Amino acid sequence: MPNLSTTFPQVVAHACSRTLLPMVIVLSVLRSAAASECYPNLNLEDAISEEMAQVRIAPDGEHFRPGRLLLTYRATRPTQFEALRDEYGLELMRHFDNLNGEIVRLRDPAETLPVYQRLKHDPRVATVELDGLVYSALNDLQWNFQNDGQRGGSEDADVDGPEAWQITTDCTGVVVAIIDTGLDVRHPDLEFNIWENKGESGEKATNGIDDDGNGFIDDSGGWNFRDGTNQPLDCIGHGTHVAGIIGAQGNTPEGVVGVCHDVQLMPIKALGYMIGFTSDIVEAFAYAVDQGAQVINASFSSAKSSELLDRVLEDAYEKSVIVVAAAGNDGMDIDDSEVAVGSGESLGDSSNLIMVAATDRNDLLADYSNYGLKSVQLAAPGTSIYSTFPNASYRSVSGTSMAVPHVVGAAAMLLTQRPCLTPSEVRDILMNTTDPIDNLRSSVVSGGRLNLHTMLTDLSIRCE
Ligand code: CA
Ligand code: CA
Ligand code: CA
Repeated sequence: MPNLSTTFPQVVAHACSRTLLPMVIVLSVLRSAAASECYPNLNLEDAISEEMAQVRIAPDGEHFRPGRLLLTYRATRPTQFEALRDEYGLELMRHFDNLNGEIVRLRDPAETLPVYQRLKHDPRVATVELDGLVYSALNDLQWNFQNDGQRGGSEDADVDGPEAWQITTDCTGVVVAIIDTGLDVRHPDLEFNIWENKGESGEKATNGIDDDGNGFIDDSGGWNFRDGTNQPLDCIGHGTHVAGIIGAQGNTPEGVVGVCHDVQLMPIKALGYMIGFTSDIVEAFAYAVDQGAQVINASFSSAKSSELLDRVLEDAYEKSVIVVAAAGNDGMDIDDSEVAVGSGESLGDSSNLIMVAATDRNDLLADYSNYGLKSVQLAAPGTSIYSTFPNASYRSVSGTSMAVPHVVGAAAMLLTQRPCLTPSEVRDILMNTTDPIDNLRSSVVSGGRLNLHTMLTDLSIRCE
């Protein structure tokens, strides 16, 4: 069996464009974990084939899902939007007032490309986008927190977890949204750290009524934008793994601890098995912000930038929500590319977006990790990270996906210690308290790898 940690990133990043062979290998590793709970009558190979079968390729090479378009308007009146939708055979899926944009469905999905082309030249429309692809950024044991040189690692090539936990383990007051493949909310190391929507709790959770009027029925524990249900089930394990790095409780003898031992994890499913689509990601961000998430974990990368996605990120910034995103797993410089989720540049220096690269147990930039002296703020451990997996299990997985939740947990810790911090202050503190690492000097803005202990001992800002 191939080494999971080295096959995973390539497999996922190139799932659409490269051979399907390695994908099948990875699936044989993962199959036992979660398939039965999610799709009892479907095996994972079939599920992935089905997912990939939705993908089409536009004449310019872009991968997309037919049947949906993402629009932003020059027009400003609801009657104008309606007229336009009628004219083009579009149905409204979701309108975002604050973004002056929306996601629409085509009555005839076969018309996606022709309608897309026509809308490009419609003066009422600012931008129109195909529903592009998003890749989950996947690529002993908890060396990331305490590295004693085990398994060929380097001593202290870690984020100084135990030293930081002398100061605090608590992020209880902070709501962290995980936009991912779902989350096994019954995992014994996670179940008491799952966020609850107070407006849909208790009897309201199952009464079939949208009690809090947020547009989602019985969303007591997040939402599944892939399938349009209130069950964000994790069928592949990616989101559950990410969740454990942020906030595993460490209350099982064989278990793990996260950066935060107590925190509120909001599960939002927007990725399927290997991929997701931009429209679901935009909805997920809007939901997270509306539901009061203070930090958002985005362990995925896009195939192409999106105006509507940038707008929802800007809206998050205006509402002081911190977004931490994966640099991606293509092993390339992303300063001038579109593979990352929202470009640091387009959002400006004061942005709330924190882009993270991955290091290994020797404090080397992982060979799969993307980097960028302008767009990637810092690095965190990402290779062979041991964390929670569906059905009460644990597993080592690698990728910039695994680096992101270390930084998310760190941000939640900071907000617990200093609730008055703004997103840009959090970003500055995270970057200014990294351990400087020689080989990161030419790859990330801060030139360093996250250090939780330095971060907590270096808090000059006081809140009244
Ligand atoms: Ca250490
Ligand atoms: Ca609701
Ligand atoms: Ca309800």
